[in-house]
Amino acid sequence: MMTADKKTVGLYIHIPFCRSKCPYCDFYSFFPRPETIDRYVDKICADIANLPLGFDTVYLGGGTPSFIGEDRIASIIESAKAVKNAEITVECNPSDTGNAERAFDFSRLKDAGVNRISMGLQSAVNTERKALGRRAGRDEVSRAVERCYKAGIDNVSLDLMLGIPGQTEESISESIDFCISSGAKHISAYILKIEEETYFSRNKEKLNLPSDDETADLYLLTAEKLKSAGFGHYEISNFALPGYESRHNLKYWHCEEYLGLGPAAHSFIDGRRFYYEKDVEKYISGCLPVDDGDGGNEREYIMLTLRLSEGIVFQKYAGKLDNILGEGFIKRCRFYADSGFGTLTESGFSLNEKGFLISNSIISDLVDYL
Ligand code: SF4
Repeated sequence: MMTADKKTVGLYIHIPFCRSKCPYCDFYSFFPRPETIDRYVDKICADIANLPLGFDTVYLGGGTPSFIGEDRIASIIESAKAVKNAEITVECNPSDTGNAERAFDFSRLKDAGVNRISMGLQSAVNTERKALGRRAGRDEVSRAVERCYKAGIDNVSLDLMLGIPGQTEESISESIDFCISSGAKHISAYILKIEEETYFSRNKEKLNLPSDDETADLYLLTAEKLKSAGFGHYEISNFALPGYESRHNLKYWHCEEYLGLGPAAHSFIDGRRFYYEKDVEKYISGCLPVDDGDGGNEREYIMLTLRLSEGIVFQKYAGKLDNILGEGFIKRCRFYADSGFGTLTESGFSLNEKGFLISNSIISDLVDYL
């Protein structure tokens, strides 16, 4: 999208700092020295100020953005000078923001333009939270969410995790009920993936993990419960009340442009994909991003749009890629629709929840028919 003189894209900023490492996490993050945080924030602010771009969504993710404190977050957001009515999201950890001893000042974030908070809940059951290495309990999450509302930020998203140690249908129901009663407008529900070189991967046998079939049932139960509470299941792992879908994340799935700043952040601009290396000192010293090739081709578009409940809309596909899908591809979509994994109409093809559960294999099969 172009405004009068600037192209407008989404902006992602990676905050690579965490108080401690969660046992399942392989994101680029570490516990920093205070001066590293300041040098990093100064560099990010300087980089944003020099960009010939406008931003209609800004997303501070991590790592743990709330770890760097309200003033630093505000200075980054203010440097971005997002366009009017931009969606501005900050990921927060309840151990920083729901602490009973120190009141995190969400009004400082609101005054800087933040209008959406994504809170890492994972589970509302304290024994499960402990197994995930989360220091804060359910009470801190409630306190943090209340503080958002009190500051006038009513668009709160909660992250849930499925397939975690000890989780049952009863315990996931308790977490979902917690999300609904907290007034969250958006809920992300990710299935735990055991990443290599994490504590969980080294101790998998001892973790009391639900089986794959049990995890699939937890996913289907989550979708059912959230849909009956009025949430739309708009993406494989994301649910929202009407009008509260994440505008920033939709850019990824619609294959639209975004710029990522910070170590490990990825970008897609002018048909090219590029990323910064996972090294904060290299980023601070002005290292250039690494080219990651062409982006936005047919395969990528299919892979991303099939994550959405809207699926592939044939007219949009033709408009975006200046191409139409061939007979072999449509025939294969018909096979999956007839097998109960999705819906094929004259206007498009989409997966249902059963299809979402095996989306990786369906998508990799379908792209072979392009
Ligand atoms: S807080 Fe988030 S980014 Fe940090 S270690 Fe835990 S899961 Fe990873």
